Amino acid sequence: MILGCIADDFTGATDLANTLTRGGMATVVLFGVPREDLAAPGADAIVIALKSRSIAAGDAVRQSLAALTWLQQAGPGPAPRESTAIPQIFFKYCSTFDSTDAGNIGPVAEALLAALGETFTIACPAFPTNKRTIYRGYLFVGDVLLSESSMRYHPLTPMTDALLTRVLQRQSKGRVGLIAYDVVERGAAAVREAMERLHAEGVRMAIVDALTDAHLVTIGAACARLKLLTGGSGLALGLPENFRRAGLLRARTGGALPAVHGHAAVIAGSCSAATQRQVAEMKRRSQWFEIDPIGLREDSASASKVLQWARPRLGREPILIYSTADPGAVEKAQAALGREQAGRLIETAMGEIAKGLVDMGVRQLVVAGGETSGAVASALGVEGLWIGEEIDPGVPWTFSLGEPPLALALKSGNFGTDDFFLKAFQKLEPPMNADGRFGE
Ligand code: ADP
Repeated sequence: MILGCIADDFTGATDLANTLTRGGMATVVLFGVPREDLAAPGADAIVIALKSRSIAAGDAVRQSLAALTWLQQAGPGPAPRESTAIPQIFFKYCSTFDSTDAGNIGPVAEALLAALGETFTIACPAFPTNKRTIYRGYLFVGDVLLSESSMRYHPLTPMTDALLTRVLQRQSKGRVGLIAYDVVERGAAAVREAMERLHAEGVRMAIVDALTDAHLVTIGAACARLKLLTGGSGLALGLPENFRRAGLLRARTGGALPAVHGHAAVIAGSCSAATQRQVAEMKRRSQWFEIDPIGLREDSASASKVLQWARPRLGREPILIYSTADPGAVEKAQAALGREQAGRLIETAMGEIAKGLVDMGVRQLVVAGGETSGAVASALGVEGLWIGEEIDPGVPWTFSLGEPPLALALKSGNFGTDDFFLKAFQKLEPPMNADGRFGE
């Protein structure tokens, strides 16, 4: 492993892993601080997905340090594993720098620096593709300052200050500095020089301006020798090339998946507009079953009825099970049950259904909906995922660690084209390697 990553939330972790995979690094995402004997042989990068963005700063620091310790000991396994020096550690947070005044970006970054015996890092959440840019230390979301964007009203981490040097300084003990846009424009050597100068002046963390992907690549190149990097997933754009230049990365076409043989199914628990269109499109060609929260409350055996329905229908063609409904139906269910209970009933049922389907031999599963995906992954006891080929932007096939091997596509509700579901399964044909390993 040449890059160890600690992400402060789940979707951010997969986003980062997807970027690294597209850059040619074999990447695995692990959920939570992994158990000691978990191994991911063959990984160039490991991303540990924490849920540490909006918890107390002390807890975020503890979890992040535990993740770091695991990464430092994640040798080729099996035990006893020796502590190995990973070339680089990446602390990943949101491209809108989501944090409270007390943290958690500053405290976690400083704790990681201390644990690594380092005294300087950069902070760059920019993600130009998603319209997050930094100019003179100010973070813009599209055409407006962060503090004027909808992030101002975020329920957990309202962002009311767009000047990132000030935000980071409020939550840090060490000095915070800035590497401005004009330096980044001059190229990697200029950025490196600025880092050295700021470091010598006693700055511990430098916000770095970035307006374009090209800037992120420049910054990535300038950071090749930094032990710790902190930023959004965009900062990962330039990293694979550093490792390639240093001869640490084997040539490969990133993102292939082994063949996973078994039945195929789609579980849709998202009610987002894109998922509604995708469900309608698949219903025209496939066998389907609809569940709804009111029905679930009235019939506690619903999940087993769905599975009874599914059993004789599993074969060469994927089946569809969905709770996707239009806003009127969702409103009706929420009025009858309350928003939370309606959601919980569906998520629990989808988890049970997924588990039942896997017990019946389903090995290829598309799940629509962020919360729904979380519920399904935890019901299936998935500890980690390899990232594979992208189906649509931001939605790759993934391949679960452990037994039985599953191909999972976990789709955020509003992602993907209308024919996403059936298109996804058409990508699943690469032959497994002779030794059954991933992507080589
Ligand atoms: P998205 O990615 O589109 O936000 P999620 O899975 O994250 O999708 O969220 C959808 C939420 O709506 C889940 O909590 C799910 O259980 C709930 N839900 C799904 N179907 C219905 C329905 N028919 N009525 C009410 N709530 C529903």
